[in-house]
Amino acid sequence: MLDCIIVGAGSGGGSAAYHLAKRGREVLVLEKARLLHYKPCGGGVSPAVARWFDFDFSEAIAAKVDRVGFTWQHGDRVEAKLETEPMWMVRRDAFDRLLLEEAQKLGVEVCEETEVTGLEFQGSAWQIRTSQGNFEAAYAIGADGATGICAKQFGLAAGELRLGGILDIQAPPDAPDTVRFDFGSLNKGFIWDFPQGTSHAASALVMRGTGKPQEVKKQLLNYAAKLNLDETQFTYYDVSTKLWREDLVLHGKNALLVGDAAGLADPLLAEGIRPALLSGMKAAEAIDRALSGDRDSLENYTRALQEEWGKDMEYAKTWGDFFYNKFNIPGMSSQIYRIGVKRPISAKIMSQILCGEKRYSDVGEQVIKVFKKFFKLGK
Ligand SMILES: Cc1cc2nc3c(=O)[nH]c(=O)nc-3n(C[C@H](O)[C@H](O)[C@H](O)COP(=O)(O)OP(=O)(O)OC[C@H]3O[C@@H](n4cnc5c(N)ncnc54)[C@H](O)[C@@H]3O)c2cc1C
Repeated sequence: MLDCIIVGAGSGGGSAAYHLAKRGREVLVLEKARLLHYKPCGGGVSPAVARWFDFDFSEAIAAKVDRVGFTWQHGDRVEAKLETEPMWMVRRDAFDRLLLEEAQKLGVEVCEETEVTGLEFQGSAWQIRTSQGNFEAAYAIGADGATGICAKQFGLAAGELRLGGILDIQAPPDAPDTVRFDFGSLNKGFIWDFPQGTSHAASALVMRGTGKPQEVKKQLLNYAAKLNLDETQFTYYDVSTKLWREDLVLHGKNALLVGDAAGLADPLLAEGIRPALLSGMKAAEAIDRALSGDRDSLENYTRALQEEWGKDMEYAKTWGDFFYNKFNIPGMSSQIYRIGVKRPISAKIMSQILCGEKRYSDVGEQVIKVFKKFFKLGK
């Protein structure tokens, strides 16, 4: 019997596989898609993730950026130079593939084009049914993304599902060293355009409420028109993620959730790759300890993620409540753009947070106080 089966070979699954194999555990990764298929994602990654791995990510980094540009409804532009280490821009197929290859070097087995169709805990092991036959393992990790089956099969409810879209633009970005964010054109959400070397990816996501897929697509096509792109230069993809919410329980019977399956993406800026990598690493540590007899380690995994990621996400969510106008105060988002985003200090703070040099909790209370005072929303 295997020590652990991981469902899904995204960043979360790859990280878990790598860290379990490093601890000498027998691991199988089951992935329904073909490896190296294009995976729609903005692909912005904090360089802070490097410290969690013993290998070099350079070959999977398509671009490094050190400038950020903000607009409100594609106008009222402000640009700033990041005073941090440059942010990585990756194409997810190459990035996830590198993670998996490093895990394979340590002995991890990977089955691609193998869809998991059911998981059942029987006796002392997980019985896992797939399109290519059945497998058995002592532990299971659900790394099957925002719309995967594992959370439900483990009896866990995770995150807030949000709809988004991506334009994979097969043309060089006009500024290869700049990430762009546009607020105000997508209601209760935003658009961001990240360079990826010879191509770039424009993403859009509704951050509050369920949103309408056709509105996301409309806004991205509108953005493409503003860039004077013709239809042969881009491909549109529907894509979703699960944003963090309070009270997440990420462990079940001999099972853990990681990444989007766990619902860990940042509710202010949709950063999901870093928490996928972090949770994969923490899940591996927890399962390794459980296999060595520590009966509390799975429960401690939930606690560790709340402590190391969730606390910051509480601040991100509260900032998001203002930014995406939970209060339905007319003009709130545009005012926040004016009083918050447009100030040079904001670009500095946001880039420090995205690069892992600062945490939301370092500045969270102060920012919330300013917003509350400005909008006269009590103490
Ligand atoms: C529009 C948009 C843009 C984004 N841009 C960024 C960004 O720039 N930076 C950032 O940090 N985050 C970004 N995110 C969030 C990020 O994409 C996710 O948080 C991240 O992909 C989570 O990784 P994961 O490994 O948990 O899941 P995934 O990458 O979704 O991987 C899950 C894997 O499981 C496989 N799978 C699913 N079901 C099964 C099954 N039944 N059997 C076997 N395999 C299965 C899938 O094929 C997939 O390969 C964005 C999200 C959206 C919606």
